[in-house]
Amino acid sequence: MKVSKETAIAELKKIVGEDRVITDPEVLKNADVLNRSYAKAFGVYATPPALCVVNAKDTEEVSKVLSYCNDQLISVIPRTGASGGEALLETVNDTTVFLDGSLMNGILKIDEDNMMVTARCGTPLRVIEETVNSKGYTTGHAPQSLPMADIGGLVATRSIGQFSTYYGGIEDLICGMEGVLPNGHIFRIRNVPRRSSGPDLRHILMGSEGGLGFITEVTMKLFPYHPEDRWYGGYKMKNMHEGFKALRAIITAGYKPSVVRLYDKTDMDYNFGSVQMEDEEAFMFFVCEGPAGVVKATGDAIHEIALAHGGNYIGTEAVKHWMIHRNDLCNSYSGDQRYVKFRETQTMYSTTEISASWTDIVKIYDDVIANVPQKCEHLVMLGGHVSHSYINGTNIYFVYRIKMPNPEEADAIHTQVVHAICEEVLKYETGGCVHHHGMGKRRVQMAPKEHGTSYELMKIMKKAYDPNGIMNPGVLVMQEEK
Ligand SMILES: Cc1cc2nc3c(=O)[nH]c(=O)nc-3n(C[C@H](O)[C@H](O)[C@H](O)COP(=O)(O)OP(=O)(O)OC[C@H]3O[C@@H](n4cnc5c(N)ncnc54)[C@H](O)[C@@H]3O)c2cc1C
Repeated sequence: MKVSKETAIAELKKIVGEDRVITDPEVLKNADVLNRSYAKAFGVYATPPALCVVNAKDTEEVSKVLSYCNDQLISVIPRTGASGGEALLETVNDTTVFLDGSLMNGILKIDEDNMMVTARCGTPLRVIEETVNSKGYTTGHAPQSLPMADIGGLVATRSIGQFSTYYGGIEDLICGMEGVLPNGHIFRIRNVPRRSSGPDLRHILMGSEGGLGFITEVTMKLFPYHPEDRWYGGYKMKNMHEGFKALRAIITAGYKPSVVRLYDKTDMDYNFGSVQMEDEEAFMFFVCEGPAGVVKATGDAIHEIALAHGGNYIGTEAVKHWMIHRNDLCNSYSGDQRYVKFRETQTMYSTTEISASWTDIVKIYDDVIANVPQKCEHLVMLGGHVSHSYINGTNIYFVYRIKMPNPEEADAIHTQVVHAICEEVLKYETGGCVHHHGMGKRRVQMAPKEHGTSYELMKIMKKAYDPNGIMNPGVLVMQEEK
């Protein structure tokens, strides 16, 4: 940083106005509210406090703030809903500005002729979805964090929703966007249906984790919304292996249910508890949506394939229970409920999402369940579920609980578990250790192995778009390699 902290704050106040530069220490301590939350519950704040939070109200302000910070070598962490994990929002120095886009909130246009909705970066996805639902449409994007996340952050983390097997991840749902580069340059990627020239520019800020620029506006696709025509089906499977086989058979035959999930007993018991299962059993379930004829054909085929793979049909009740309660976890993030629970149980819950081919995923599931507890003595629960499937493979959300010896060590112990899972995944040719939460600073050490020889492309990209390294330092590429 070239100027003093006082000068930087004064200059930022000149750009956006006195009231939108926040320096209150309590606000700064919690600018990254969800990360290291176990330690925070005990009053331990280990990351450097930010310089300030700047609440931008429009694209021009974002441009001016970025341009100033770029010139003065001030770190900037873009933020919208603040629901990102993986240490995405953690500061690495005390001269960091949180550039918050929450005030850039609102739907700009719903284009029913061309099935598109345009919203500013700080618009909660819940608002977008409920607004278009009322007109008979859906964005098709339904991450569990729907009640918490905004569209800017969802694009920046390349997020994925619970209905992804039918609609796709956010990369399949974005038409165009407006954004700002660290030097203040404002750009717009127009909403053309397809373009064949060069790499897809939408993908530069998609998944960029705030490390390359700032997304100010997003246009998403719309789909017809027919919740009344949905098909539900739930099956107990002999074990996870049989579940994987059945899922593979359904997806590779070309069927596209919207929800495709397979839970082991540990995960099901902890998160939903709505199905009685024996130790080895798995619970596999589906939701189909779309035009009624497609729904029926898809549901019928799934049922036939599931039974042929030994599935024990248990009806729709547990699936509907999941549909109702699928986002309840978000409620536990409001107020200080989580902190109270941490203090009472001295245990934290977390997840690590990975993906692999149909062949490798089975081995990865077995390896993680067998090996990770041996490497991580503080682990007290480890299970997992499948939630997003593709023609060439699927994902697993590993879920776990860690008994913490003390708050000071909590972050290191959590990271140890995450890395242990990632190491098991990266032993396999098709194993990917970052399915949809972003790598953040927690997993960036895995980036060279995750990307292999293409890691060089990431480093070049970071240097090209953010030559001064001001944007969310520590994501995408390891700091010493930027
Ligand atoms: C209970 C829970 C459930 C979750 N479920 C899912 C799920 O089902 N699917 C899923 O994909 N994720 C899920 N997540 C993760 C998280 O919600 C997503 O990563 C989400 O995309 C973050 O959006 P946000 O607006 O909260 O972004 P933030 O947390 O504010 O930011 C996330 C990242 O994006 C960057 N960023 C934010 N805004 C911008 C911007 N305008 N321009 C450029 N960069 C920006 C930040 O710098 C940061 O690196 C879950 C999280 C929680 C807590």
